[in-house]
Amino acid sequence: MIPLARPDVGPRERELVLETLDSGRLALGPRLGEFESALASWLAVDRVSAVSSGTAALHLSVRASGIEPGERVVTSPFSFVASANCMVYEGAEPLFCDIDARTLNLDPAAAQAAVDERTVGLLPVHIFGYPADMTALERLAGDRGLWIVEDACEALGAVHADGAPVGARGHLATFGFYPNKQLTTGEGGAVVCPSQEVASRIDSERNQGRAPDMGWLDHDRLGFNYRLDDLSCALGLAQVERLDRLLADRARVASLYGEALGDLEELELPCADEGGDRRSWFVYVLQLPRGTDRDAVMMKLRERGVDSKPYLPAIHLNAFYRERFGHREGEFPVCEDVAARSLALPFFGSLSEGEVAQVAEALGGVLTALSRAV
Ligand SMILES: *Cc1c(COP(=O)(O)O)cnc(C)c1O
Repeated sequence: MIPLARPDVGPRERELVLETLDSGRLALGPRLGEFESALASWLAVDRVSAVSSGTAALHLSVRASGIEPGERVVTSPFSFVASANCMVYEGAEPLFCDIDARTLNLDPAAAQAAVDERTVGLLPVHIFGYPADMTALERLAGDRGLWIVEDACEALGAVHADGAPVGARGHLATFGFYPNKQLTTGEGGAVVCPSQEVASRIDSERNQGRAPDMGWLDHDRLGFNYRLDDLSCALGLAQVERLDRLLADRARVASLYGEALGDLEELELPCADEGGDRRSWFVYVLQLPRGTDRDAVMMKLRERGVDSKPYLPAIHLNAFYRERFGHREGEFPVCEDVAARSLALPFFGSLSEGEVAQVAEALGGVLTALSRAV
């Protein structure tokens, strides 16, 4: 079975992890700062704080921005659930807005129409590694006095039309390092901090509310254990060293898919880069023709040795969000249409040309067989 994802971990990762293991410093050791500096310099930003997951990064970022129970934050319903959950952790409410049909990112016009007097922030997601329209969102934030947190967990290496790396526009921005991401630390994440003040708060809150100079059992604020251990940081350090290569490999596989699937006219493939924005390839998600039985497609792909999955479900239609906030079908038609038809194919940097051909052939065969059966 060709799996959906596979981390690219090599001899350098093994070397640094084993060195760290042998050093006896497994947490709060030197690797943490080394990983943070390496990542910050790769992104060309001043400060990065590493944390235990992308979700932890989001949670600390909305707290640092200022969020109170009952307040609202505009965000996309077409995302991984963590980008909405981080507000719910604080008793606040995600104010979902529909997405742009091409980029699948938050539609700035919909966001503008939705902002109300309870809204305090914008939390755009760079979905599938494609840059969100930050220029329009920054204008909206400026006009309405809103903060911005960027969920860049799927977009390490993406670049905006103006040349700024995604996550490096001076807002709080989060990255995630789960094994299917462009860079992995096992579990892990990071926050790009726009100022030393924000970084100090985040560094304290990830470490149980301790100030850097306080004793182990002194806590001057509410904190969490969102620390990233040194073994994970060692893994991350090796991955940053190889990051350009890792990203280039993924882009190569994406272009192979583009060629192999280009003839299947009924499929909608991931949007091409436009206007100078550059995607960082995180997943390869296409949209099946309306009316296709997606479960049947997945089952038949599996019979042919190809894994696939729906990606992503609309957040507002998850059971928890329906029950807590009363969401229903029909609220965000673009998002719901995309979510109902999207299918992720196996995607990772070491996927071979032959495997890509096998996936494309299987998909073509399955779609033909299904359309004949109708
Ligand atoms: C991966 C991801 C996260 C963070 O996930 P963790 O598993 O907590 O690291 C957040 N938002 C999006 C959009 C993601 O894809």
